[in-house]
Amino acid sequence: MKIDLQSAEIRFALELIRSGSQLARLIRAEASVKSLTKEDRSPVTLADMGIQAIAGALLERYFPQAVLVAEEDADYLKTPQGTKDLHEIAQYVRSFSPEATPEKICQWIDRGQGKPGDLFWTLDPIDGTKGFLKGRQYAIALALIKNGKIEVAALGCPELEFENHKELGKGVSVLAVRGQGCWATSLENPGDCSDWVRLEVSKCREVRDARILDSFDPGHKNTEKNRLIRKMLGIKAEPVALDSLAKHVLIASGDAEIFFRTLPSKDPGHREKIWDVAAGALAIEEAGGRVTDLDGKELDFAAGRTLAKNPGFVATNGPLHQAVLDALRGAAQTRS
Ligand code: AMP
Ligand code: MG
Repeated sequence: MKIDLQSAEIRFALELIRSGSQLARLIRAEASVKSLTKEDRSPVTLADMGIQAIAGALLERYFPQAVLVAEEDADYLKTPQGTKDLHEIAQYVRSFSPEATPEKICQWIDRGQGKPGDLFWTLDPIDGTKGFLKGRQYAIALALIKNGKIEVAALGCPELEFENHKELGKGVSVLAVRGQGCWATSLENPGDCSDWVRLEVSKCREVRDARILDSFDPGHKNTEKNRLIRKMLGIKAEPVALDSLAKHVLIASGDAEIFFRTLPSKDPGHREKIWDVAAGALAIEEAGGRVTDLDGKELDFAAGRTLAKNPGFVATNGPLHQAVLDALRGAAQTRS
């Protein structure tokens, strides 16, 4: 293992994705998981908010001055309708941070409203909340951004199992540091364990044979265009649908070769949120793969809470990247 597991950044990152994964599993195991609908119509659960609270609590301990840019806020929990849920979250979070009170929970969650600057952490407490609710894939995703570049990535994927590394079992932690590779271990292993395996992208060079991943949600892509691109690439196999950054992790582990996100026809101006991309992008790059936007441009994480300058997303094992970009360009010229 090349990464220094004793550094404060890595200890913080691993403690967060492990505690977060544990909390998510705890809530997922309940008879029913309560889901609320946010203004943008996307779902949120007590797990999303609880994990972001744990992040705030851990930051207070590890890096009191650090900036956090995260998906959730505590607005709903501060309303009279949210009081019961707030108390429930405090109870859950107390098993990880005994000093949790309802007031502290709101403060910790709202730490995530930090402004992206030269150095900040970005967190999606549960990426793929729909997957989480449906018993499918989801991920706790954290990244450290320095001058617009991703330096550290940590992901907890409680439902994910690698075909290439079956020995890790179901539930994996993934860690990537710029220049130091992408590594994985079982979520069950303690932070300083030596059982890390190095993840490497697939060596596939024949685009027709590529295994392709896709989002479940028809609102997150242009389904017709995706079909056309697969046809142009000569890929006959149907794409495997997965929620969340689990897709990116499977490209990193060599279990698949291609994932791209076209712009939905109903919302062609859509831009990705930085926490939906950063951790997965570094994992893929450090495993030897390539990541760009739909135009082949490098992703710029210095543009605020969204990737304002980068339409869509393309990730491959590397050798297949240009073929996918060419097909995307070809499809853009065809009406679909
Ligand atoms: P998915 O790949 O479908 O699991 O989506 C992963 C994340 O990207 C989720 O947090 C989504 O909310 C977000 N996302 C991706 N595309 C869109 C879109 N067109 N509109 C809203 N959210 C999106
Ligand atoms: Mg997300």
